Amino acid sequence: MADAARPRTVADLRDLLAHRLQGAVPDPLGEARELLASLHDAPRSWSTVHAGDELIDLLIDAAIDAAERRIAGAPIAYATGRAAFRHLFLHVDERVLIPRPETEELVSLALSHIAPGMTVVDVGTGSGAIALSIAYESGAARVIGTDLSPGAIEVAELNARAVLRQEYARTEFLQGDLLEPIGDESVDIVVSNPPYIATGERESLPAAVRDWEPDTALFGGPDGMDVIRRLVAQAALRLGAGGMLLMEIDARRAAQAMACAATVQWGDRRVVPDAFGRDRFVIARRTAVVADTGART
Ligand code: GLN
Repeated sequence: MADAARPRTVADLRDLLAHRLQGAVPDPLGEARELLASLHDAPRSWSTVHAGDELIDLLIDAAIDAAERRIAGAPIAYATGRAAFRHLFLHVDERVLIPRPETEELVSLALSHIAPGMTVVDVGTGSGAIALSIAYESGAARVIGTDLSPGAIEVAELNARAVLRQEYARTEFLQGDLLEPIGDESVDIVVSNPPYIATGERESLPAAVRDWEPDTALFGGPDGMDVIRRLVAQAALRLGAGGMLLMEIDARRAAQAMACAATVQWGDRRVVPDAFGRDRFVIARRTAVVADTGART
């Protein structure tokens, strides 16, 4: 960009972004404000409060890059690389799911079962949103995040160092399938937002999800239940008696998710609705019954 056209203040930059976004999004000025706020991990009013501030080149380039990605169709969180989750601001990119508000509720549920000193595993940790929130908000001694995707492990580790700083040593991120990376260890809490969309439901997803978010974080096989079934079976082997499994599920498949835990190994099974009234979580307590089974799925 020629220097003459270079914006001088935050307000100039906001207007320039809005101009570029024209025709690409329904509310260009609103989105320009949102992009600038998101780049600063700040509320939407950021560009109003700082309207007269002089700019540094770095912000101009970052903001224009973000607007370009938005014009290409990227969700705002991928456009800026930032997502808010509970008390934390996290780096996100196309290697991980953008954390959802429902999943913030899953953390609340998990926290109500976590006592100081416990070991917690977040299966399919993605950006690390659940694991890092639990480390930040509870007295858990160890929080382990696992993910099949090496890229997700990289993002989660980056976030751990950025948001937990010296406390990040309480967290550990391990690449592998479900609970396999923890070996034979017995743990107190297993929490997960697994992929639970059925393969055939792909076309019914919003384009921003379908075209941008990672398939491995979304799809759970032909009936959407593949990962949940295997997770429930593995969790029964890894949770000590009294340990809790907490999962986010597809609201349309609560009965199927409950059926996965309909064995003697599980008690206190229940479906918990989210704030929108949808059957969004299944929780179950590991009973004291000794696991029969060689079924390490
Ligand atoms: N809740 C996400 C969505 O609606 C899906 C996340 C998942 O499969 N765990 O796109």
